[in-house]
Parts: sequence; structure tokens; C-alpha cells
Amino acid sequence: MNVLDLARPELLRLQPYSSARMEASGGNVWLNANELPWSQSATAARDLNRYPEPQPAALLEALAAQYAVSTTQLFVGRGSDEAIDLLTRGFCAAGASNVVISPPTFGMYAVAARIQGAAVREVPLLANDRYRIDSAGILAAVSAQTRLVHVCSPNNPTGDIVDAETLLKLADALRGRALLVVDEAYGEFSEEESASQLIDHHPHVVVLRTLSKAHGLAGARIGVALATAPVIQLMRNIMAPYPLPSPCIDAATAAMQPEALKRTSERVALLRNEREWLRRAIAGLTGVTEVLPSQANFLAVRFVDAEGSYARLASAGVIVRSLRKYTGLEDALRITIGTHEENLAVLSALDQSSRAA
Ligand SMILES: *Cc1c(COP(=O)(O)O)cnc(C)c1O
Repeated sequence: MNVLDLARPELLRLQPYSSARMEASGGNVWLNANELPWSQSATAARDLNRYPEPQPAALLEALAAQYAVSTTQLFVGRGSDEAIDLLTRGFCAAGASNVVISPPTFGMYAVAARIQGAAVREVPLLANDRYRIDSAGILAAVSAQTRLVHVCSPNNPTGDIVDAETLLKLADALRGRALLVVDEAYGEFSEEESASQLIDHHPHVVVLRTLSKAHGLAGARIGVALATAPVIQLMRNIMAPYPLPSPCIDAATAAMQPEALKRTSERVALLRNEREWLRRAIAGLTGVTEVLPSQANFLAVRFVDAEGSYARLASAGVIVRSLRKYTGLEDALRITIGTHEENLAVLSALDQSSRAA
């Protein structure tokens, strides 16, 4: 089976929008895109009067090297959120298709599905088994109408990974049935190998990466999908004409240079140490019932009185994420690992709340 047999058939016949920037290259007098010939401001750091490359070649090459794939196996867009949206729109037919998710998990899988009019099938994580994914449950939930199976590893908001063996089994079982979309937004903070090594032999596996977390570029909105070339081509055929602003392309390209990558891996190592230190410190506080194992840059912490602890943190000026809306984790807060000083502020606020309790 060809993986594009799972795509919306009308999109395979779509004549994609062809922008001026795509149709031409070379030359030095550019009169093909109705751009102004002058820069907006003489003092601007960069000329923004020209449209950006839709899929910038230099950035594609740097990202492909970073994620060990070829440039035809990589889509770069406005955050991995855009990749989630394009996969949903490319593969799910409104009123017919469904996607499978494992809550509590990242909210955009379900939101993107609902916007597209696809049904959402929920197979909860196993709360009594370290919040592992329920592989058997997922396979039982997959129907002939399923197009995407979302797996988040490390999972937001629980923090743990799906181990390589479980993923491989799931990928094998889903072959020809649905796309397995593995979201590795926090991959840099974990010890697990990337699932991207699966894509050569599993054309229905898509891996999502982002520069928003470990690379410190959340404001630039740069995310990546890694997949077999035909899936990437479909995503490019349905993307916005010029998805990436030039300053964001520059910031992302700079983040892929050796010096920047070295700084990133040092910061990741630092945050991992902070995570282990903070995990142990929080676990020892009264009023804390559990700190979930985490391979991400956050901790999910369950409290006797989560709302009280949230308020205590807030009054110390520390804003964390309440997991009140996540079934099974209503008593938990998600705390991002910050600088050592910021983490000390968390501890100090929680310590006061445990003494007050
Ligand atoms: C933050 C996050 C994203 C979104 O990443 P962007 O690249 O900023 O869009 C995707 N998936 C998960 C699990 C996240 O936590």
C-alpha cells in the first residue's frame, strides 16, 4: 500500500499554488512578484521588501543535517503546530475520518482534528502504569476511517517517553492502516533515540520536531516534520504560500550553526541536571503526592491541594500550568524547569505552602 492512499484523494489531484518565488531563480532584476524595489526602512536590519523562500534551501539543509534525514524528507513550517494542522487537513476528510490520541496529552491534536471535522478517539494513558501508552487499546481503537495516530514522546504534560520497542511495534502494526505521528517536541531533553530512524522503512511514520523548546526559539515559530518524501510533498502542496517570515528563517538558520548548537546542548545538559535536582527536592515536600518521571524540561507534580499550591506559587510571582482540565491529572501542576534561581523560587514557595498546610 502507498501511504498516500490514506490522504484525501482530491488533494492528490490538486494543482498547488505556485508562487513567483517558486517559479523563478537566479537573475538580479526581480520584477516577478510585485514587490517594492526599496526596503521599507533604511535602518532595518534586513531588507523585508522581498518575499521569503517558501522552503528556504539553506535552512532545509541545516535542519536535515541536524535531524539526519534528506531535505526531501523534511518540511519546515510555523511551529510543529502547523505540521499537525497540515497532516490533519491532508489526511482527514471532514465528517468521515478520525484520529486517535492518548490523553492526557498535547491539546492541538484534538483541536486540529475538530477544526477539520474529524472525530477524535481517545485511548487514555495507563494511569496505574506510570502513564504509559495503551498500545493494545490504540490498535483496538483504529478503524478503517482512522488517518492519524498521535503519540507524544516525551509526552506533554506527563513528561515520560514511549520506549523505542513500543514505538516500533506500534509502527509495524499501523503499517498501511494509519499514519503514526510521533511528536518529539521535547526530544532533546530525553535519552531516547529519535523515531526519525524509522521513516526509511516505515513510510507511514511522521516525526515532529521544533526549535521552540530546547533551541530557545519559541518566538520564531519554527517547527519541522520528518517523513517519507511523498508525505512531505503533500504538506508542501497544501501549505500557506510563504509560511516563514524572513527574520524567523534567519534566526533558525543561526541556531543551526555549530557554535549555537554547542550552546544549546550545554543548556540542555544544565536543564536536565536542574530537572533531577528539582524532582528530588519537590518529592520531599509535604503536600506533594507524586512527581511523575520526566524526560522533558518540565515536571508534572501532584499535590494534596493543587489549587492552593498554585495560588501560593502565583503569590510569589511564579506562574506554572494547572493541569485541572486534564482528566486523571486534575490534582497536578506542570512546572517548567527554569534557571537555578527560578527553580529555587518554586521550592521556596512550595516549602512555605507545605509548612502552612
Ligand atoms: C510545545 C509543543 C508543540 C508546539 O511546538 P511549536 O513548534 O512551537 O508549534 C508541539 N508538541 C508538543 C507536545 C509541545 O509541547
